[in-house]
Amino acid sequence: MTTGTNTALEKKKSIYSLELHELKEWLKEQGEKPFRADQIFDWLYKKRVGSFEEMSNLSKSLREKLKAQFQITTLNTVVQQSSSDGTIKFLFELQDGYSIETVLMRHDYGNSVCVTTQVGCRIGCTFCASTLGGLKRHLEAGEIVAQVVKVQKALDETNERVSSVVIMGIGEPFDNYDNMLSFLKIINHDKGLNIGARHITVSTSGIIPKIYQFADENMQINFAISLHAPNTELRTRLMPINKAYKLDDLMKAVRYYIDKTGRRVSFEYGLFGGVNDSVAHAEELADLIKGLKCHVNLIPVNYVPERDYVRTPRDQIFAFEKTLKKRGINVTIRREHGHDIDAACGQLRAKERKEETM
Ligand code: SAH
Repeated sequence: MTTGTNTALEKKKSIYSLELHELKEWLKEQGEKPFRADQIFDWLYKKRVGSFEEMSNLSKSLREKLKAQFQITTLNTVVQQSSSDGTIKFLFELQDGYSIETVLMRHDYGNSVCVTTQVGCRIGCTFCASTLGGLKRHLEAGEIVAQVVKVQKALDETNERVSSVVIMGIGEPFDNYDNMLSFLKIINHDKGLNIGARHITVSTSGIIPKIYQFADENMQINFAISLHAPNTELRTRLMPINKAYKLDDLMKAVRYYIDKTGRRVSFEYGLFGGVNDSVAHAEELADLIKGLKCHVNLIPVNYVPERDYVRTPRDQIFAFEKTLKKRGINVTIRREHGHDIDAACGQLRAKERKEETM
């Protein structure tokens, strides 16, 4: 943990970045009682205060120590777009001026928040707006946590709760693995935001070593893989990451994950008109994932002006779905949220902050 003087220029670590046990260790180093960590978590995640001064059951000197070393990250709302289906998309500004997107989606089973893990992305998927301009920096765990706290605070006004979280915003979560993992632990902790593991989903473009590592964490998190193609040639065309982490090896890692955790995985399959959306592709996909404990989520392409993919006609989407169903595969077509706003990953940022995505 970094200590030392914090000038106005030097950014203080976000208190939201600390897992409960890390906060306990810090308190011990300060000569404080570890149980204070529970009280601090209560202020941060249950009472959701915005300042250390408000933590009235802590001594003044502890509050001052906290203030000297940490900040309670705030995110400034630059744009807030509301869709007719209740989806709210936020463009938040970080302390260093970069911007990120967070989305609140309303389902009949509850409120779901989609979070960003990086400013930009270096994976380079050819259809995705998040990757325009490359990776600027990783988010600190606390900057990911802050997105959920911020949306929860907005929901507090109507006595609603964030009941699920999906790590499907801007960035590749497995490229910022340690911070992503701390984020998971903090939001999942019953003294933190207490969001059940089964209500959290993480999605990766396929960084294979991290899939093995994640399997070994043995968390009961929902796990999704952006597959998008039934064979390696086509996948390389759509997702350059497939050059480094080939489809065959990816499938081996996925099998390991399923064996290790006993959990079902989700495959995300974007339907890109005329590229990967024929019945023959569906048959090939069925062959690829035959026998795996899995589910396929079909995502009709979200139009991104900078990219020239076109939508698959409705009938063909259904034909693709039917082909998989006939082969005994669990399949759903992703319901669209916020179709009338810039809902695809990175779209809002790309539009509002052109300079960041060039
Ligand atoms: N980087 C992670 C998290 C992003 S999740 C990953 O790649 O899995 C968002 C999902 O939407 C991913 O499956 C991504 O490939 C997909 N996606 C991105 N841009 C899209 C677009 N324009 N149309 C449809 N799906 C898209």
